[in-house]
Amino acid sequence: MKPVVGQRIAEEPCQECLVGFGPEKIRQDFPALRVTVHGKPLVYLDNAATTQKPQAVLDAVVRYYTQENSNVHRGVHFLSQVATQAYDGARTRVRRFLNAAHDHEIVFTRGTTDGINLVAQSYGRKYLRAGDEVIVTAMEHHSNIVPWQMICDEKRANLKVVPITDAGELRLDEYERMLSDRTRLVAAVHVSNALGTVNPVREMIALAHARGVPVLVDGAQSVSHAPVDVQALDCDFYAFSGHKLFGPTGIGVLYGKAELLEAMPPYQGGGDMISAVTFEKTLYNTLPYKFEAGTPHIAGVVGLAAAIEYVERIGRKQIAAYEADLLAYGTELLSAIPGLRLIGTAKDKAGVLSFVMDGIHAHDIGTILDMEGVAVRAGHHCAMPVMKRFGVPATARASVAFYNTRADMDALAKAIHKAIEVFA
Ligand code: PLP
Repeated sequence: MKPVVGQRIAEEPCQECLVGFGPEKIRQDFPALRVTVHGKPLVYLDNAATTQKPQAVLDAVVRYYTQENSNVHRGVHFLSQVATQAYDGARTRVRRFLNAAHDHEIVFTRGTTDGINLVAQSYGRKYLRAGDEVIVTAMEHHSNIVPWQMICDEKRANLKVVPITDAGELRLDEYERMLSDRTRLVAAVHVSNALGTVNPVREMIALAHARGVPVLVDGAQSVSHAPVDVQALDCDFYAFSGHKLFGPTGIGVLYGKAELLEAMPPYQGGGDMISAVTFEKTLYNTLPYKFEAGTPHIAGVVGLAAAIEYVERIGRKQIAAYEADLLAYGTELLSAIPGLRLIGTAKDKAGVLSFVMDGIHAHDIGTILDMEGVAVRAGHHCAMPVMKRFGVPATARASVAFYNTRADMDALAKAIHKAIEVFA
């Protein structure tokens, strides 16, 4: 089976993929994993918030600033050409990473949030009318809710929310029922950051397309865990962030089908997004530059390309298989802890263990775990509607990457037992 996210990666991990996979060796590439916290070795389990960076990414960014630093698309001088080549070369690498058809379908953004806002403010502003509908799911991150609320308010359109089950799975039947001739766009998360649920985006896209409705996929939590093929998914837009993919902060990608991006107006105005300017009229640049106003985050793009190269060297099938095994191990450990309830028990899950405990607030769990050197996130995870759906104010969340190990999971379980002792 080809382990594309959305195709039951958690259920059918590719065992052969694990041959030769060495997390202990991989860990040596990540300087931040060597730090100690409160005198204990760091156990970093907050990868859904942001990932650590391999030395290859740090080196690429330093090399750029020390040997190649210049602005892009502007200078005829040597360094500017080097920087331009690095910048445009990175676009090709991203295109291959997502298996997009064309480089000009790859727009560099500040991150997932920025990419979604771009589509809401450009596509949404152009096409939404009063009474139209945008569909999101009940497990969205705030960054795939608020931009749609803003544009729907402005256009007097309605936001529709697909419900989820008690396991945190999407109600596909309800989704299908909600698609109507008023639906103008579906915006859905691929992998939920709060629950770990892998949504059946391929089916969702096919159902929407049967009614001529385009689909934006929030890929913030998926690209780092398994292969993503935007042509196979047939999504219309796909957004992700570099910092969740072992790359720098402040850089991200919006993939969009060329014919949709062509028809959309620019989101922001400024340098580089124009082909000619007079005080009477401006002619916009071609794709993708039309959507990249101003000096871009060149060092971020260079770092992102290095991160993608690093991930590809490890292999995304290997990563998916390894993390599926780690998730199964962690789920078993945590499920055996008295008073612990996992929030998000979907059949298709990526490496997120979100949980609450009887009599201990999530923030207290997070604090005690931190004293043991175990870094997890505690809070609403920018998904307040998910917390409301499950009737909890917050959860503690451990989220894995390919550099985590079974020993990290053991440390997590041990630290939770410590929290139970403290609050007994
Ligand atoms: N979508 C999901 C599912 C996320 O988990 C996140 C970040 O946690 C985002 C969107 C927003 O990403 P960023 O803050 O990098 O723009």
